Amino acid sequence: MTDSSSRRERSAYTGFATSPLDRRADLRDTHDAVAALRHRSDTRIAVVAGETPILKRLDGETQSVWFSHGESELLGPGLEEAFLGIDGAGAPRFARLIDRSLVDELRERPELLVTDLRSVALKRLVPKDELGPLGEGKALLDWHARHRFCAQCGGPTEPGAAGWKRQCTACGAQHFPRTDPVVIMLATRGDQCLLARQSRFAPGMYSCIAGFVEPGETFEDAVRRETWEEAGLRTGAVRYLCSQPWPFPSSLMIGCLAEALNDDIVLDGTELEAGRWFSRQEALQMLEGTHPDNLFCPPHMAIANTLLKAWALEGERAV
Ligand SMILES: [Zn+2]
Repeated sequence: MTDSSSRRERSAYTGFATSPLDRRADLRDTHDAVAALRHRSDTRIAVVAGETPILKRLDGETQSVWFSHGESELLGPGLEEAFLGIDGAGAPRFARLIDRSLVDELRERPELLVTDLRSVALKRLVPKDELGPLGEGKALLDWHARHRFCAQCGGPTEPGAAGWKRQCTACGAQHFPRTDPVVIMLATRGDQCLLARQSRFAPGMYSCIAGFVEPGETFEDAVRRETWEEAGLRTGAVRYLCSQPWPFPSSLMIGCLAEALNDDIVLDGTELEAGRWFSRQEALQMLEGTHPDNLFCPPHMAIANTLLKAWALEGERAV
């Protein structure tokens, strides 16, 4: 849940980070209470077909992720459902998974907008306060879809706790939704920062280096290892700056600044196809879209954008 003070945190400027919902975890194990919330007239439901959000067109150019119970029933049979929480007005919010095969059919309906979650964030297709719950719902439903069998014995699992766990019907093991930590870092040295690109990036886009945290590592250790493995840079001080839920499928991006200790970049050649030092002036040009070589950085909703702004515009440092 976000309030006025958390909205000032740097993390709040990243996409998928702001949610007005009180998750009310205390209600998840009270089946009757959740069933009652499910059938209230003010209940609203976000619907995802496979991995694709279904949006409701409102007046003009605006859309909403929220459907009434009756509207959601008309989109297709629910495969999984999760209780997301209660909004500021006391209205219950749920997320529902429907079959991915329905996407093409729903795309034809004029009252709906059917597009991928990245585009929803990038094009600001829904209000910021709706993007967080949509990402939460998508990540949670995606976890259900991928965890139908027990990792311990292979038996079938069934959902519980209002969509916040799965239980094995054979051995009884309980499984909980996972979040995978990923460090993303801007390595800087004096007035320069390291940006790199992968071959899958749009032409001209450069971003921060990132990688999964491995077992036994602190965030700081993961930053130093990834920077060394991918760019041949030794880094010293590492400072956490902000984080971002990244529901593709279920990561948490941990944004850090890192102090580089050497200048010579040696790209690993597999993950990165190019990388180099950029001056602060170039970083500002990339943020503004005025770089003379048409190079640019990730867009407003990406944490790499927030990190670059924090360093280039606001003067943040690792030390
Ligand atoms: Zn089992």
